[in-house]
Amino acid sequence: MKVIDKAQIRAFLLNRRRSLTQQERTYLSKRIVEKLKGLESLLKSKKPALFCPFDNEPDITPLFSCVINTVGFVILPKVKGDSIVLYSVQKMDDLEIGSFCIMEPTNGERIDPKDIDFILVPGVAFDKKGYRLGFGKGYYDRLLSRTEAFKVGVCYSFQVLEALPIDPWDVPVDLVVTEDFLIEGGKKI
Ligand code: ADP
Ligand code: MG
Repeated sequence: MKVIDKAQIRAFLLNRRRSLTQQERTYLSKRIVEKLKGLESLLKSKKPALFCPFDNEPDITPLFSCVINTVGFVILPKVKGDSIVLYSVQKMDDLEIGSFCIMEPTNGERIDPKDIDFILVPGVAFDKKGYRLGFGKGYYDRLLSRTEAFKVGVCYSFQVLEALPIDPWDVPVDLVVTEDFLIEGGKKI
């Protein structure tokens, strides 16, 4: 049996994602954002954490103003050393280019991951059980191990695989949202 490891899957899918044209990315992102806007878990959330897209990840930034308008703020990650720290932001002006050229909050209140109730999680791949493959540094595994929030993976449909190689520290998400389908409880819906 041929064993495919995390690094091979990562390289293949990052290449595929990087080859999306801006038009394709925009079209797929709009569909993903529409699906996310309808999620009950997000509509009910009092402390939702989102992410700023990086490296051709789906552009979910249109959600920021929706969340700010309804909740009053949006919680976003910032890389500090080996960790992701979370800050609440009340306006888009409070973001600037940070580590890895990702937009990050410049000021705002620091939020304990224990206190958030919803989190959108970017990924290079997800599988049917919600397991996630990231860039290989474990940032989200460390963050997700410290929160009970409802976890929603966000990716394009080509990034969903049947089963990923998993390690003991990998934290699965509860739901995966793509432009085409959702995955919850091991099933496409
Ligand atoms: P990714 O999730 O980014 O694809 P991996 O799952 O391969 O990457 O994890 C990368 C590294 O992060 C691993 O070598 C692991 O040691 C470290 N790591 C992951 N989760 C934790 C954790 N909860 N505490 C400490 N180190 C962790
Ligand atoms: Mg991992």
